Amino acid sequence: MAGDFEQTLRGPQAYKITRKAIDMMERHNIWPTPLNFELWSHFVADPDGPLAKELTRLIGAGEPMTEAMSEELAAAYLAKAKLNEQIRDAGDQLTKELASVAKAIQTAQKSTAAYGETLSTASEGLGTATDATAIKKMVQTLASATERVQKQNDTLEQKLSDSTTEVARLREHLEQVRRDATTDGLTNLANRKAFDDELARACADADEQGACLTLAVLDIDHFKNFNDTWGHQTGDQVIRFVASVIGRIGATPRFAARYGGEEFAMIFPGEDAVTVEACLEEIRDEIASRMLKRRSTNEDLGAVTVSAGLATRKAGETGVCTMERADAALYISKRAGRNRVTNGEKVTSVAA
Ligand code: GH3
Ligand code: MG
Ligand code: MG
Repeated sequence: MAGDFEQTLRGPQAYKITRKAIDMMERHNIWPTPLNFELWSHFVADPDGPLAKELTRLIGAGEPMTEAMSEELAAAYLAKAKLNEQIRDAGDQLTKELASVAKAIQTAQKSTAAYGETLSTASEGLGTATDATAIKKMVQTLASATERVQKQNDTLEQKLSDSTTEVARLREHLEQVRRDATTDGLTNLANRKAFDDELARACADADEQGACLTLAVLDIDHFKNFNDTWGHQTGDQVIRFVASVIGRIGATPRFAARYGGEEFAMIFPGEDAVTVEACLEEIRDEIASRMLKRRSTNEDLGAVTVSAGLATRKAGETGVCTMERADAALYISKRAGRNRVTNGEKVTSVAA
């Protein structure tokens, strides 16, 4: 957890851990950029955690650590920790705000009660008062008590108005945090977590309305070759381009997400396999027919292609994991030569 890690960095082990992180980076030829340093310090501080496991796996696979990979790791493993911290901070602020509103209301209640007492005392006094001086004094007491209560009310009103503004600001901040947590940084599409949440929601809606639901999985073809030829950064630009086409065609009420590295997933609520197949063909065709250029040098990169698979969850068909069927359909597209769309519904046995 981020909080624990922050504490570790201020504890007795701090220098030992960070020195070890630098040693490890040097041993594995990792540049000591601030981001890498953060990743590797987390590794040393929590050697059994998920980030350490993933780093160990990557080193084991002998893959060179690129900047893009570091960023992906940070987004996947460090962002959540930071996010928890931000949510906790916003929660703390909200608690403080509510406590101060509660106090202001209490003070106002007290002064209203005191005012009530003053009024009843005055009412008794007026019943028995005989001379004008006594009555005048009583009226004066009442006037100043009224003024005090009015002031109190003004203060309370101001406090409530300030609090409303502050709560609105906190809500906007939390909304931003939520958006960041559900958005993929490279493409601005929804990320995998957001996709999983949306899928659960879409399935529940489909059940309730007795509607069908079609899912699609798309994957860039031979992308490892592309990266090897043109470099990771140019590869990232291609991912962004593919995402823009998918995002446009997958706009609301559809849903499009970057599911993993060069893999995308889409939800088509209430759409059957025939219409979705046509949509995916449109995406496939648009991507394949675009001649790409490298931005920095204007070199021709040729075209990239995508393969897709789709599966439909028919109305009333519950408990079926369609993502697996869409994946199986994608696999058929890959095996059949790539740059194609496979409608899982048309294949008798998608597992074949
Ligand atoms: P296939 O047609 O079978 O999908 O072949 P492929 O090479 O696309 O598939 P493979 O799964 O072997 O490799 C996926 C590659 O995608 C590996 C990795 O270099 C690249 N990749 C994954 N995420 C990113 C990313 O964020 N940026 C870049 N530039 N490349 C990525
Ligand atoms: Mg691929
Ligand atoms: Mg892939």
